[in-house]
Amino acid sequence: MVEEVKTGSLVIPGDELSIIEAFTPGKNVYEENGKICSATIGIILKDMVKREVSVYPRTRIPVTLERGDIVLAEIIDVKEKFALADIAAKIYPRKTKLLSKSPGVIPISNVKKTYLKNLYGAFLPGDIVKTRVIEVKNGIAILTVSSPDLGVIYGYCEKCRNPVQKEKRMLKCRKCGNVIKNRKISRDYGKSFYV
Ligand SMILES: [Zn+2]
Repeated sequence: MVEEVKTGSLVIPGDELSIIEAFTPGKNVYEENGKICSATIGIILKDMVKREVSVYPRTRIPVTLERGDIVLAEIIDVKEKFALADIAAKIYPRKTKLLSKSPGVIPISNVKKTYLKNLYGAFLPGDIVKTRVIEVKNGIAILTVSSPDLGVIYGYCEKCRNPVQKEKRMLKCRKCGNVIKNRKISRDYGKSFYV
């Protein structure tokens, strides 16, 4: 049974929005095993007339980020010593709000408590991360994932690009069997943030 997700809720990739019998897939969604899932971070719209479900990733809510904010971001690029991310939403105590996208960077020193030689494998482009803002410099947010609640909450397999599931303390790809060991995952991996 798919939980009822209401229009206006914020969803992340992989969140189940509806069953295929109830709605047809609209924009930024995909169909899997009879379910309609979100393909992006965005706001869900259920068109009751057309019986169509879509996710809209854009908003005009201006970004006002400051130190300590917890945000959801999509990894855009992974370099040796830093990762670039698009900040897409801000998590408040009882709700998550979509923001107009703004740039963020995760330096290698803010990823794990232990020494990392490089960031390859810690993130993959497309991964959704829960991060905390350290400071905002020239419009770019410096982010950290260096605590157990922070890190990747939705990730992909580096071999086949399929979304991966958390099994015990590791990520596993159910499509190709790849076990992902190096990703910096959050203890909230797989959790939904819609309210
Ligand atoms: Zn795979």
